Amino acid sequence: MVEEVIELIPQVLVTRKIGTLDLTGGAPELHHKFLDLVGKATALGVHVIDRCNLTILFEPGQDGLGEFLASHKVEVVASLPCYSSANVDKQRGEGVFDKSIAALQQLNALGYGHEGSGLTMSLVYNPQGPSLPPDQAALQADYKRELFEHFGIVFNHLFVIANMPIQRFGSALISRGQFNDYMRLLKGNSSAANLDNVMCRNLVSVDWQGYLYDCDFNQQLELALPGKGRPHLRDLLQSDLQGNIIRVADHCYGCTAGQGSSCGGALHN
Ligand code: SF4
Repeated sequence: MVEEVIELIPQVLVTRKIGTLDLTGGAPELHHKFLDLVGKATALGVHVIDRCNLTILFEPGQDGLGEFLASHKVEVVASLPCYSSANVDKQRGEGVFDKSIAALQQLNALGYGHEGSGLTMSLVYNPQGPSLPPDQAALQADYKRELFEHFGIVFNHLFVIANMPIQRFGSALISRGQFNDYMRLLKGNSSAANLDNVMCRNLVSVDWQGYLYDCDFNQQLELALPGKGRPHLRDLLQSDLQGNIIRVADHCYGCTAGQGSSCGGALHN
């Protein structure tokens, strides 16, 4: 079934004239069809984004992954919760910071992150606790300065993304008695101006079985796309989702609070 879903992707890209394929997961590069899918999508002129955890570049069997991504002009988006080793290792595990820095340097050597190279490399920051994300432009300036001064690293953009009150983060808030305060913070800072640009208005999220969701967060919550039956990727060969109702719930305040939040960072600055 998974094979069938992956085979469907290029067909849907062509049929619906979709310009961007955004691949995410624990490590999408580990899927045995990853290279094949990226090759087919880019041959169609589709822009591919790889949400890369960086340390994957040093896993056995992944030799040449950086060169492959560069030769297909795949955009790399990678999480780096801080520009200091102590904070990253605390959040992600011992040694993750050093490996991430080595991976960013390897990607820089291939041309990633350099203006004019056509190889875009962006980093993602989430706050470490129940607070609104800081100003994206100011934090991007700090990241650029610190990573260049200490490690010679350059990158294109920093995406600042709010923590959604769901899954592991939501459970941690509940166990610490902070859930209600965080929801109040998100609701109190919600801005209607962000509604025009929330990502569910122009993307669709597809799970490993091909079922469709309004966004990655609804997918994690198993809030299926509204519609008859359970809308599936193969349905997009027949019709598009233009005008479909978006399934919203309280977690959506995570997208609309403050400067707004999406898979591409702040909605305005
Ligand atoms: S969480 Fe809600 S507002 Fe945010 S992208 Fe998903 S459906 Fe849209």
